[in-house]
Amino acid sequence: MGRRQIFAGNWKMFKTYNEAVELAKGLSAGLNKAGGREYVLFPPSVYLKDLSSLCAATPFVTGAQNMYFENQGAFTGEISPVMVKDCGAGFVLIGHSERRHIFHETDENVNRKVITALFHNIQPMICVGELIEEREKGETSAVLNRQIRGAFSGIEKEAVSTISIAYEPVWAIGTGKVATPEMAEDAHIVIRKIIHELYGDEVSNSIPILYGGSVKPDNIEGLYKMPDIDGVLVGGASLEVKSFLDIINVNFNKSSS
Ligand code: PEP
Repeated sequence: MGRRQIFAGNWKMFKTYNEAVELAKGLSAGLNKAGGREYVLFPPSVYLKDLSSLCAATPFVTGAQNMYFENQGAFTGEISPVMVKDCGAGFVLIGHSERRHIFHETDENVNRKVITALFHNIQPMICVGELIEEREKGETSAVLNRQIRGAFSGIEKEAVSTISIAYEPVWAIGTGKVATPEMAEDAHIVIRKIIHELYGDEVSNSIPILYGGSVKPDNIEGLYKMPDIDGVLVGGASLEVKSFLDIINVNFNKSSS
């Protein structure tokens, strides 16, 4: 059986409430649901509850862009897994490069958040990827090894079935510099090998690995045709109905390829 295919939009800290609602409505009106694809929207968390209700009658599900690893407490400004669940979100992004590099999240934080998400039945989408300096020094595999092994530390094989990974080279995020399909595929193969070393055949063959980093309507097809790219995580181009629909409606059917 083929792997899950996931198309996700990360709206980051963009959109007013009304704009977010209009965007979600426009997307659900224009979606050509291709067999077997899953669609996830990661809006700002203050809109999660309303957008989860709005998406309930559509193929889209919602996710939080981040969350803390405690259920409640004196953690001003944070949102908890209980709140994420309560707002109807099914996914959470963990370790997005903006969290790692602007907010100094460590591999240990990422791991605690993944464990917490699994405990609360929220599907973690773990983001990994190297900086341009790391790629230029030939350290991409070492970085991916550190980030993946850190994120999965202490997590048993039986617990990982709802986890997805987004490979997002930091130099490609929001820059317009997309990885070539071959570069992305090579990194996805490295990631799958690490997962194989950790969990064996079944998990490494089934875990969805998405590509993210300047995905646009004009490059989606080349990326999505690569055998180890199981969907995409889109930032900038997910903020407009037309560009995101052109991506998520890409006319290439993985499940029959
Ligand atoms: C992202 O935010 O995860 C992302 C990939 O952004 P962009 O598509 O704008 O590069």
